[in-house]
Amino acid sequence: MSGYHSAQVDVPVRLNTNESPFPPPDGWLDAVANIAKTVPWNRYPDRGAIELRETIARRHNVSPANIFVANGSNEVIQTILLAYGGAGRCVATFEPTYQMYSQIAGVTGADVVQGERKADLTLDPLEIERVLTRDKPSVSFLCNPNNPTGLIEPRANLDALLAHTTGIVVVDEAYAEFSEWSAMDMVSEDKPLAVTRTFSKTLSMAALRVGYVVAPKQMIADLEIAVLPYHLDSFKQAATIAALGFVSEMEQRVDAIKSERTRIFTAVSDMDCDVWPSGSNFILFRPRSSAASAVWQRMVDAGVLVRDCSTWPRLTGCLRVTVGTADENSAFLGALSAALSIN
Ligand code: PMP
Repeated sequence: MSGYHSAQVDVPVRLNTNESPFPPPDGWLDAVANIAKTVPWNRYPDRGAIELRETIARRHNVSPANIFVANGSNEVIQTILLAYGGAGRCVATFEPTYQMYSQIAGVTGADVVQGERKADLTLDPLEIERVLTRDKPSVSFLCNPNNPTGLIEPRANLDALLAHTTGIVVVDEAYAEFSEWSAMDMVSEDKPLAVTRTFSKTLSMAALRVGYVVAPKQMIADLEIAVLPYHLDSFKQAATIAALGFVSEMEQRVDAIKSERTRIFTAVSDMDCDVWPSGSNFILFRPRSSAASAVWQRMVDAGVLVRDCSTWPRLTGCLRVTVGTADENSAFLGALSAALSIN
């Protein structure tokens, strides 16, 4: 196998990993400094992360027994796949989508079945029905909005997954705040549905590594069997509780990102590029007459890093840009326009 890679190039404008361009609020930084001094460092953490789960549960109006927290939503996905994947089982993804589903499923020894999106990268519910009926996956992933396309999934696709699954359905909502709908209110004890969220995007805390899943209680109990003891350190538990006090402040930044997203979408559409409409904090586009890898390199030379997806299966010639600050986006648009003007 080969690992998952995202080039980290040291340039002034980094728009390749879909983080928030804004740092967390000062109030949270002060709280964290205080937490660092008061955490009982010589003791193991609260293994059940009870207070943290209670705080997240209040946000979504569910019970703490419906919440599992881990070190980023990647670890949530890994724990789900340790519990429900593994040798002799199969995991379904609908490509192109977030690569870690297939990657982690493969690491657990599960077979991966990859359903296909249409040429315009939308997903047909009949494809979902075909894959789930044929392969009976233990776990099926839907990323909404989808990374790397940015497209919002129609609700009909989740309905199709729930109608045809004989296993569990995971909706990855890493970018939910930028979208138009969420599956969160559909989570209930009688549906095999799990919805994941992260602190890495809207909440400006990619460095902290926190993500969680809201799911039926039985599923959470299964994840607790699979995960390592004390996987969430005490500092992180307290820092995350403090972060939840700043959610509305950070959600206010979403509107600024959405309006910058519109600006980028319009400007790139006016260039020699195909662009996909985004319900997320990034935009997928394809230069029509220039080689994407050359455009990528010219932009790096101009100090702007975007994600080069051009060699990924089904994304030939595509690049993906994260919406940054207004200044970063202007730098990106200038660098792209200059890169496209060279043939
Ligand atoms: N899901 C999706 C769709 C993502 O794009 C990402 C980050 N690239 C993640 C999950 C993982 O996020 P984290 O582990 O930082 O919570």
